[in-house]
Amino acid sequence: MRIRVLGSYGARLPGYHTSSLLIDGRMLLDAGTVTAALNLEEQAAIDDVLLTHAHLDHMVDLAFLVDNVLTLRTSPIRIWAPEQVLDSLRRHLFNDAVWPDFSRIPGSDAPALRFCPLPADKAVAIGNCLVEWRRTEHPVFTAGYLLRGRSGSILFSGDTAATEDIWHLGRECGDLAMAFVEVSFPDRLGDLARASGHLTPAGVAGELEKLARPEVPVMLFHVKPQFLGEVEQEIKALGDERLRLLEGGEVFDIADRARAAR
Ligand SMILES: [Zn+2]
Ligand SMILES: [Zn+2]
Repeated sequence: MRIRVLGSYGARLPGYHTSSLLIDGRMLLDAGTVTAALNLEEQAAIDDVLLTHAHLDHMVDLAFLVDNVLTLRTSPIRIWAPEQVLDSLRRHLFNDAVWPDFSRIPGSDAPALRFCPLPADKAVAIGNCLVEWRRTEHPVFTAGYLLRGRSGSILFSGDTAATEDIWHLGRECGDLAMAFVEVSFPDRLGDLARASGHLTPAGVAGELEKLARPEVPVMLFHVKPQFLGEVEQEIKALGDERLRLLEGGEVFDIADRARAAR
């Protein structure tokens, strides 16, 4: 599994882009930054988009992606998420008011995108992965994901405050190779983090105890860039060497990492 980081922050400023991972060149995990990071050919190659939730910073580029590749593809882009997330997209984005309903154009028999609900507690094959999700703690319905690839698995927390089920899924996964965990605010803004359904570095430390996989590298994403310096200092002060901040443009080859770990 090859992971290319298109965006890794929780807000937008020059040089800081909102969350999106490109997996094996054909699947997106969240769509906060796509069209500014990929050329048109790369955009047209995306068959599947997996969304954690319908907050703007995780799905806004879906609107521009589908519009860009409309005439370049012969099959719809499949949008995968729990039904509650898809319902929000249908009602609030692709509603023929804010943006066209691309699930019905150019024609309902050959649409530009297709909504594909993900069942609870059942793994679904998407691209090269087997995908499972669990609900996390966030003001809107949000999923964290486990992606099982042929050469190893990754866990992606989604946006969340303190939670349980997604860590259980990661704890039980024998070949877990990497965890992507959100951290948004510095510890002094803990009340704001809790109220908005996010974590601070101290919160991350508590969540990783629940994950209980001390051998697994942890990539932290979704920092609000205006607090980056503070959050970096607090992460360093935790003294946990497997923790580091995710950067846009990074590429991870899970096969290589799994080999290196042996
Ligand atoms: Zn977010
Ligand atoms: Zn959110």
